[in-house]
Amino acid sequence: MYFDYLLYLQTINFLGMIKITLPDGSVKEFAKGTTPMDVAKSISEGLARNVISASFNGTTVESSTALNADGNLVLFTWNDKEGKKAFWHSTSHVMAQVLEEMYPGIKLTLGPAIDNGFYYDVDFCETKISEADFKKIEDRMLEISREKHEFTLRPVSKAEALAIYKGNEFKTELIENLEDGTITFCDHSNFTDLCRGGHIPNTGIIKAVKIMSVAGAYWRGDEKNKQLTRVYGISFPKQKDLTDYLELLEEAKRRDHRKLGKELELFAFSQKVGQGLPLWLPKGAALRDRLEQFLKKAQKKAGYEQVVTPHIGQKELYVTSGHYAKYGADSFQPINTPAEGEEFLLKPMNCPHHCEIYNVRPWSYKDLPKRYAEFGTVYRYEQSGELHGLTRVRGFTQDDAHIFCTPEQLDEEFKKVIDLVLYVFGSLGFENFTAQISLRDQENREKYIGSDENWEKAENAIINAAKDKGLNTVVEYGEAAFYGPKLDFMVKDALGRSWQLGTIQVDYNLPERFDLTYKGADDKLHRPVMIHRAPFGSMERFIAILLEHTAGNFPIWLMPEQAIILSLSEKYEKYAEKVLNLLENHEIRALIDNRNETIGKKIRDAEVQKMPFMLIVGDEEERNNTISVRRHGQEGKGNISVTIEEFASMIQDEISKTLKTFEV
Ligand SMILES: [Zn+2]
Ligand SMILES: [Zn+2]
Repeated sequence: MYFDYLLYLQTINFLGMIKITLPDGSVKEFAKGTTPMDVAKSISEGLARNVISASFNGTTVESSTALNADGNLVLFTWNDKEGKKAFWHSTSHVMAQVLEEMYPGIKLTLGPAIDNGFYYDVDFCETKISEADFKKIEDRMLEISREKHEFTLRPVSKAEALAIYKGNEFKTELIENLEDGTITFCDHSNFTDLCRGGHIPNTGIIKAVKIMSVAGAYWRGDEKNKQLTRVYGISFPKQKDLTDYLELLEEAKRRDHRKLGKELELFAFSQKVGQGLPLWLPKGAALRDRLEQFLKKAQKKAGYEQVVTPHIGQKELYVTSGHYAKYGADSFQPINTPAEGEEFLLKPMNCPHHCEIYNVRPWSYKDLPKRYAEFGTVYRYEQSGELHGLTRVRGFTQDDAHIFCTPEQLDEEFKKVIDLVLYVFGSLGFENFTAQISLRDQENREKYIGSDENWEKAENAIINAAKDKGLNTVVEYGEAAFYGPKLDFMVKDALGRSWQLGTIQVDYNLPERFDLTYKGADDKLHRPVMIHRAPFGSMERFIAILLEHTAGNFPIWLMPEQAIILSLSEKYEKYAEKVLNLLENHEIRALIDNRNETIGKKIRDAEVQKMPFMLIVGDEEERNNTISVRRHGQEGKGNISVTIEEFASMIQDEISKTLKTFEV
């Protein structure tokens, strides 16, 4: 038997067969020189029609690349991230072709795919691209696409490549940095570009194209270099996809948290105070406070203790923690005092302060875990070009906490943190999320601090906890921090966009650096493990995401005002006051609009303010001791007439739908 098998293997080798392993683990044999497209065809014609790119042994290949060795093959369609990347990058070739046609003499540089579409950086030299030309460019691109030109890669020598790009200093620089023998050109139609690959089979599948915008961009992102023009575009395999995408963009604009923050009077920025330093207006501050109280209440149940630490700390503190090495030079510079040599830093992280709280007294294993929580404001200097509303700021408040526990407690603690995070997401209406588990790079274990044994414990704790809680997980090897593995929650908002929210990180480094200890059952000193966690991430970022996710229609328990009383005329002011009083007794947040305006105008203004309930009071209501209730965004549905008690239970019902009690 065994002998036969060997003979069989030799025969295969002789015939020039290769073994292709597919993602489902199945292994198929093919003749040497088989292409990914051939493999797709062998599976099904339907798949072959949809395959647009591939990767072989982890490297991007064309669907027409000849495979000459055994290996793992992944076939990508438009539905894969890699498929879209190939699609968009290929479209950038077509755009470059059209730009060259329309603006002779321009110099092409680089044209990669990005998260949404692609761009090409171009030196337009004497000419200039204008928005008025976009349509013409799109039309010509589609014309070329319809001609179904194949993309083909061909190797060229360095000398040949340099000769072809003589006069284009950008491509010349790129080629200079490549090794002879590794350089390829990509041809389609009559156009050629320096490119290492990753294309769709042919231009025919590009059915919809949109040039989005142009912007300035320095060559290789360095402001000392020449400024180029970056032309942004996007393309799709169906016209409908483009229409949907443009609608989504419009909706995203309407939901932009910077716009809503202004309209709802939540926060503002002042050039005098400084860029990236948000000012919370009364309504925004109340919103923040409500979120903080909500989390504090759950945390208290989960055994956290609230602590408070200063906004600055001695430079030495951050030298000890390692944060000075990480943030020092690129962030806010030390604050000097009249005392010579004394230096303080704005805190970039709360962790060092919490380590020192742990160090205030000795601990026994019986005292652990200790869980210290703080809404701690930290400061990091972001480049002004990177600042963006509340999502990228220079001062922000983390819903931070640090758990100090024994290695044996890690499992349990991790599960508890996940419970808390899930409770937070559920109460705020985020239902669609994945948990990204970042583990060590198994090949380079020496890069990480902490013993192998502890790492295994921590990694298993995360994996088991995520599994136990039924999370939808993605595992990323090599993405762990040098000090420990972590779990990040990625949420999808109402528009399908992904955001990174809460994070849970295991840390072996800081306990070491701050010499944290506890006395074990063996009477000896041991190092505790530290967990950093923040379900919101930061208050600023979280509120920004929540604004965009809900378009300002927060869950009712969180709304700054839950109802507005609209009096039909001054005559009913007294009754409106009475209604307000009764609502307050039911702990409903409400206010009165007594302005001398028409009811139509009052309703319109309340709609803009995203007021969840409008309570109209007039003659009939006063006589019957009722209110006429109208819901936000439901014009034409007719109002319902109810008593205050009935309305109070309506709101209570609604609140209990999202805001559950946190169970430990
Ligand atoms: Zn290319
Ligand atoms: Zn921390």
